[in-house]
Order: sequence, then C-alpha cells, then structure tokens
Amino acid sequence: MVPPEVESRVAPPLVNCPECDSMLPQGLGEIECLLCGAVCRVSHAPTVAALKEEKVQCPHCMTVVEAGTDKRPADLTCAACSKIFTLTRKIVKVEIECPSCESNLRIRPRPGKRELTCPGCQSSFFVTF
Ligand SMILES: [Zn+2]
Ligand SMILES: [Zn+2]
Ligand SMILES: [Zn+2]
Repeated sequence: MVPPEVESRVAPPLVNCPECDSMLPQGLGEIECLLCGAVCRVSHAPTVAALKEEKVQCPHCMTVVEAGTDKRPADLTCAACSKIFTLTRKIVKVEIECPSCESNLRIRPRPGKRELTCPGCQSSFFVTF
C-alpha cells in the first residue's frame, strides 16, 4: 500500500545560477544547473530550520507530527497511530502575466525556456526562468 502524501508548506527559495543567471532546479545542497552544467551550492539556513521544525497533520489520525528532517520527500511515522505517510516537497508556483490580455497565470517554474498558452485569450508566448 502506498502511504498517503502530505504536501510540505516549506519550500527552498528559488535561486538563479551565478554563471548563466537561469533558474536552478529547486532544492538545497549541490544543485546542477540544467542549462550550463555549473554545480552550485545552495544553502539557506532558515529554510533548513523551517523544514526540520515543520509540523504536519497525520492523515490517518490527525495528530500533529514534527517532520524532524529537511529531506523532502520524507517518510514519517506517526507517533500516535504508528502509520506511515510521506511528506512531499512543496510545489512552488509563480505568477506570470499574459502579455496579450494581462491575466495572471499560475505555473510551476522549470529551468529554461518554454512556451505557454494563455487559457484566457489562447495566445502563446515564451517564458524563460
Ligand atoms: Zn547555469
Ligand atoms: Zn497518526
Ligand atoms: Zn491572455
């Protein structure tokens, strides 16, 4: 049986590559830039502390459980009911304004250039992170 998942509310900051200024894959530690291959050390002490101290509700019995680790995803065992659940990484979304109709789109940023289609006016445009 796959343990139920709870999405973390804490996310590492979005960081740009110091070499080519494109967005790095989200995470902490040694992160490799997908565009230029530079390996960058990303550290952010407040995020690490917040990840370790994050409290989530056990989806089985609703008891509050402290994560105790800065890893995401992390398998946690509830102290009250001894059941396992997975604390997944937070999915970060950013708001992009459509250049044609100025409506806001909420998307998941991914490194590099990609084409988006605005659901409001159907026009396509490119975004680069
Ligand atoms: Zn780079
Ligand atoms: Zn529980
Ligand atoms: Zn639009």
